[in-house]
Amino acid sequence: MSIHKQLSDYSRELDECVRCGACQAQCPSYLAIGKEGAAARGKIVLAAEVLAGRMELDEEGKRDLALCLLCGACARTCPNHVPTDAIVSALRREISEKDGLSTIGKGVAALTGNPRLLGTLVRGTKIFSSLLFRRIPETSGLRLRFSPQNLQDRVLPPLPRRNLFSRLPERLQGKAGKATLAFFAGCTITYLYPEMGEATARLLNRLGYTVLIPRGQGCCGMPALSSGNGALVEQLAHTNTAAFDTAAFPSEPIEHIITACASCGGALTRFYGEMQTEALHDFSGKVMDIHAFLKKEGCIDTLAALPKNSDRVKVCYHDPCHLKNHGITREPRELLRALPTVDYVEMDGAALCCGLGGTFSASQPGLSRAIADRKIAGLSASGAELVASGCPGCIMQLNDIIHRAGLPMRAVHTMNLALAALEEGLSDTAILHSGHPPCQNTSVAPWATES
Ligand code: SF4
Ligand code: SF4
Repeated sequence: MSIHKQLSDYSRELDECVRCGACQAQCPSYLAIGKEGAAARGKIVLAAEVLAGRMELDEEGKRDLALCLLCGACARTCPNHVPTDAIVSALRREISEKDGLSTIGKGVAALTGNPRLLGTLVRGTKIFSSLLFRRIPETSGLRLRFSPQNLQDRVLPPLPRRNLFSRLPERLQGKAGKATLAFFAGCTITYLYPEMGEATARLLNRLGYTVLIPRGQGCCGMPALSSGNGALVEQLAHTNTAAFDTAAFPSEPIEHIITACASCGGALTRFYGEMQTEALHDFSGKVMDIHAFLKKEGCIDTLAALPKNSDRVKVCYHDPCHLKNHGITREPRELLRALPTVDYVEMDGAALCCGLGGTFSASQPGLSRAIADRKIAGLSASGAELVASGCPGCIMQLNDIIHRAGLPMRAVHTMNLALAALEEGLSDTAILHSGHPPCQNTSVAPWATES
């Protein structure tokens, strides 16, 4: 039996849509193409008609459903809290179950339950190519997100020689008395941007926390959710729950599961939490975005206490949709403003969607770019050298936008900036006097023993 909610489970929410259209103003697809069927309201009308048995989903209806990025902007702004993204997901699952998976979905239909992550990618290779793409594990959401036909004309990062798991031990020992955290990296960080994961784990460890990086973790399931592959989402959810279960680390009570990928965080908190098992609810309840965690723990104040660097870089910020959905907008900005190496500037259109959206950029490349291009004016006018964000997918998309527009800037993760600032500042006496231990520019914290 499916542990997902079915379309019929949303009948009350469908009734609560008053057709006010407030969601349209926030829907990136609607704003890019101006089609009612692309907006949340159009999808709600469609879902209600299908559920009432007044219509069958025809090809046009299916095409309209494919125009959704599952960004959640509609649900966030709806006065009646209608969860259109969850309803679209339920409809897509029903279509997949009835008609089979779409072309992109079929690319993962053969996925097995094996979450084993491959180790090192090809040494010395600099270009992300369809040949190297074969070396991404078959369970990875990257296979959905970047199918070989979608790699053309796209700026992608050079493939790192070592993935996250070969760059970090499974456990970074922290200070006595500090909490144990576990890090959920996600596919994009693990295989394309391991330095973002390394920065996150090292930063937490330098702040005193023991950090576990469980090897059994796999894709969060967001790309599978996007393509309507409910069975794969369930499989990945169970795999990840087991990887972070107390049984896997019996002597280490995990206080929080930290994410540095907004999309993964959105999948693990919202969609795992909606699935109908206790284990998934428990897992989901522990998940916390790194920015929110640093704020909660007072670590942003620690960074703000570092002496200002005379040589600072101008940085703006892009809001990932899945952080906005959880109300995490102030924390990353506070963090950036606190960094002694950063001059923060607010960017116009910071909250506009980047257009990546799970498998969306693969299935709708033209619309994805049209949505992405709405970022160009704000990026350009900011005058920033760097645009920081809290989602590796957004960062990849932003670098693609920046390249196409020829802007003199690049996109980076907030954690890379935070770790760099901490490494520069920790040797200063100000931080020593604030009770933090001395720390040289080494790759591990002074109290750490890697195992
Ligand atoms: S989904 Fe919400 S915001 Fe959109 S039309 Fe319905 S009630 Fe209004
Ligand atoms: S989830 Fe995003 S793209 Fe989909 S209908 Fe809502 S606002 Fe539009």
